[in-house]
Amino acid sequence: MPRPILATVHTQAFIHNLAAVRAHAGDARIWAVVKANAYGHGIERVFNGLRGADGFALLDLNEAQRVRQLGWRGPVLLLEGVFELRDLELCSRLNLWHTVHCEQQIDMLAAHKTYEPHRVFLKMNSGMNRLGFKPAQYRSAWTRLNALPQVDEISLMTHFSDADGPAGVAAQVAAFTAVTRDLPGERTLGNSAATLRHPEALIGSDWVRPGIAMYGSAPDYPQSTAQGWGLQPSMTLAARIIAVQELQTGDAVGYGSNFVADGPMRIGVVACGYADGYPRICPTGTPVLIDGVRSRTVGRVSMDMIAVDLSPTPAAVPGSEVTLWGRAANGVVLPIDEVAAKAGTVGYELMCALAQRVPAIVAD
Ligand SMILES: *Cc1c(COP(=O)(O)O)cnc(C)c1O
Repeated sequence: MPRPILATVHTQAFIHNLAAVRAHAGDARIWAVVKANAYGHGIERVFNGLRGADGFALLDLNEAQRVRQLGWRGPVLLLEGVFELRDLELCSRLNLWHTVHCEQQIDMLAAHKTYEPHRVFLKMNSGMNRLGFKPAQYRSAWTRLNALPQVDEISLMTHFSDADGPAGVAAQVAAFTAVTRDLPGERTLGNSAATLRHPEALIGSDWVRPGIAMYGSAPDYPQSTAQGWGLQPSMTLAARIIAVQELQTGDAVGYGSNFVADGPMRIGVVACGYADGYPRICPTGTPVLIDGVRSRTVGRVSMDMIAVDLSPTPAAVPGSEVTLWGRAANGVVLPIDEVAAKAGTVGYELMCALAQRVPAIVAD
């Protein structure tokens, strides 16, 4: 028997979440963002659930190739564009649309010998200062691109830094609109947080670019929850109890003995640790589900194991199911965002960190 830990990718959750996002997106088309191997889920595993999207957006040429191998003939967008000249050949061959965020990428296009002209997304740095042309340089970049025979169609793009927070998107929308008002081409502005929280600011946008919402995590947790946004978890990480210990008052658990029982209690030792992607930093008290009943971790997370408090589930035995995040067999959900918050991070990071050694299956 393989070690009893399993990640389950839920096709129905993707179908549901895509519909939930669409309900916020008006007439805009949807780029399903599947970068980072579909946020740790595996591109091949999410594909059936997300094939109802209008396009796939990602970063890696290798991942773009995999999307094409799955039979996707629709739009594919490279969110960081190309990294070197010869990447453009693959763009031509696989019909990939690509972001242009800097002068060097325009130089590469100008040097590229292509038969089919390219569709590009010209990115504005409207305030985040990560990628893109500053508003003052944007139109000259557009003019330069527009003069290239290698370029067929130019779409306009920006990205928000604060769509999930109090600053919102208004200043960046204003910067973008002021410069692009009379330029032709399709527009794409918002990520999940912008799409869910600021739909009014995205009116007139042709595409939205949700990622995390489709994976069933709230982009603005804890202000909102996944459930509050009507989203379902796309990934369950579950393992089984492999040992049970009876503790007496004063008995300690795990490395560093940093949990000490203040009375007699039973704990279960679970076949999941930080080498599986469960954050080592999660303290005693991080929520888990044991046979679908809420409980907590006790003691330090080690490489291959975690201990959990069996007090709420006296019937738990070796072999009992422990859900680290996602949906238990009885249907109860432990949001990944709750676990991430205990680790001082976001659901994104936990999904992306799911370890290679964890076997994964696709289910409904
Ligand atoms: C990752 C990314 C997104 C998706 O962001 P979420 O917060 O996961 O919705 C959208 N646009 C760009 C440019 C990105 O890099």
